[in-house]
Amino acid sequence: MTDPRRLIPRTDAVLADQRFAQALLRLGHARVKAVITEAQRLARQGTIAPGEVAETALASLPAGGPRRVVNATGVILHTNLGRARLPEAAVEAVRVAAGTTDIELDLANGRRGRRGRGALAALAAAVPAAQAVHVVNNNAAALALAATALAAGREIVISRGELVEIGDGFRLPDLLVSTGARLREVGTTNRTTVDDYARAIGQDTGFVLKVHPSNYRIEGFAGTPGIADLAGLCARTHVPLVADAGSGLLRPEPLLPDEPDAATWLARGADLVTASGDKLLGGPQCGLLFGRADLVERLRRHPLARALRVDKLTLAALEATLGAPSTPTSAALHADPVRLRRRAEALAARLAEAGLRAEAVASAATVGGGSAPGVMLPSAAVALDAELAGPLRLAEPPVLARVEQGRCFLDLRAVAAEDDEDLFNAVVITGKDLQQRTGRG
Ligand SMILES: *Cc1c(COP(=O)(O)O)cnc(C)c1O
Repeated sequence: MTDPRRLIPRTDAVLADQRFAQALLRLGHARVKAVITEAQRLARQGTIAPGEVAETALASLPAGGPRRVVNATGVILHTNLGRARLPEAAVEAVRVAAGTTDIELDLANGRRGRRGRGALAALAAAVPAAQAVHVVNNNAAALALAATALAAGREIVISRGELVEIGDGFRLPDLLVSTGARLREVGTTNRTTVDDYARAIGQDTGFVLKVHPSNYRIEGFAGTPGIADLAGLCARTHVPLVADAGSGLLRPEPLLPDEPDAATWLARGADLVTASGDKLLGGPQCGLLFGRADLVERLRRHPLARALRVDKLTLAALEATLGAPSTPTSAALHADPVRLRRRAEALAARLAEAGLRAEAVASAATVGGGSAPGVMLPSAAVALDAELAGPLRLAEPPVLARVEQGRCFLDLRAVAAEDDEDLFNAVVITGKDLQQRTGRG
């Protein structure tokens, strides 16, 4: 009998395997070769069979950055999945921007141009009520910049009902205080009046801050003045009104009547509105600032602005998002429940045909990302056995499902229709594999 070790494939032969082509580009020859050498060593000592060298090496290649995950949770803006999925036009813009671009150059005359002028012009055009606009790293950065430039060493007047924790331990009051501003809390958790604000405004006031309670709702005996009421007070007392809208809607969204939008808040008299770019706007992570030209200019000129400035990829993605006819976020929000149901039925029928237990069921999706709490969007899902949820996270592509009532739900509202085929394949392979391992048919 020949020594099985003589069957161990040579390094050149393994490297020639097409499945290593991507890894060679990504990691380079030396690192891929080291992984193969290690697999050959395992084969030599008998830990794996000689025929398993290529597979073992492939499986031990270092992971290549973030992986695409199919979002079958029914949460449109899933924070752990990176919030908004960019529109294709933005993905392409990012690809172009990754090279050398005209981000700060006017090609017509060869002179330096204003950085990100395309994105800023698109933003200004999208919200004509804003005298000026600015973009920073995220909404938290927009608030930090406003607090630093307009209220460091002074007071920010804010209702006790709006001292918000966004998530993952991020508390807005802590951020504001970290800039050197002091908080002047007014009113109570459930009720604050215009008079409460009026009594607190004085020589030391930097600005009045209104925060949209993005991720919670206070019901019952509750009330707080709207933007128009506060704008009147702020105009009379010559104090800026800064308003954190959170979700990033630029115009009213009929499906989400309780979500504020920049245009409406500016029209009602807010001096400065801040919002996120990767929530309902459906774009890249960034912080949007809209408002009075003099205030935006003070923020833009503040030294801290440089530390919060966005990179060329973000500017490119933002400009393309604003120019796109729709975004995946908007498509998911507006998806027709009847169509979702049809997709769920088609998927469930094919999965059943493949021998898996699957059923199309009614479901309820949410907006997520700390937006529109309590809003339930009618949706459709494929219900599977609960024990599939874990293995599906390790499928190709990974699928994140929702486990509820002892079953695994694949909610289709946040899944693009063109991803149904990938979803089907991932579930079939995972389900079959599980059946084999547990010996069930
Ligand atoms: C989400 C949110 C923030 C934080 O925005 P980031 O872009 O994540 O920094 C701040 N305020 C409100 C009201 C929010 O909803």
